[in-house]
Amino acid sequence: MSNASIAVTGGCLCGNVRYRASNAAPEVAECHCGQCRRQSGHRYAAIRAKIDGMEIDGEDHITWYAASSFARRGFCSACGSHLFWAGDGRDYFGVLAASVDEPNELVMTSHIFVEGRGRYYEMDDGLPCFEGYDTPVGG
Ligand SMILES: [Zn+2]
Ligand SMILES: [Zn+2]
Repeated sequence: MSNASIAVTGGCLCGNVRYRASNAAPEVAECHCGQCRRQSGHRYAAIRAKIDGMEIDGEDHITWYAASSFARRGFCSACGSHLFWAGDGRDYFGVLAASVDEPNELVMTSHIFVEGRGRYYEMDDGLPCFEGYDTPVGG
């Protein structure tokens, strides 16, 4: 997470879930793992927002699905929009870039879990690729 922090608002497609994050990082990491592919329909691009500083309206509309033993994925139970990734013990949520109201401040910076990617597309934007969260591929 960089030192720069921004405030963002966002929500799901139907509007039942709205959030404000006062301490978010603008860097977008795109995850290529099989879980993200299957849940999102393609690729899962998210920023990080400190939980301390987040306000969520409509939490009762969020379904949390534990896709692994260490993380849950929150989505709107009415419209299905993917919203949050919550890893056990982490002080931030992954917040789906696509859910941010004004995403123009966000910037794609990396690809993560690239070994799990679908081979139907190429990684051709020149951004750093990581096998996991922070281990450079080939480096
Ligand atoms: Zn919704
Ligand atoms: Zn993933």
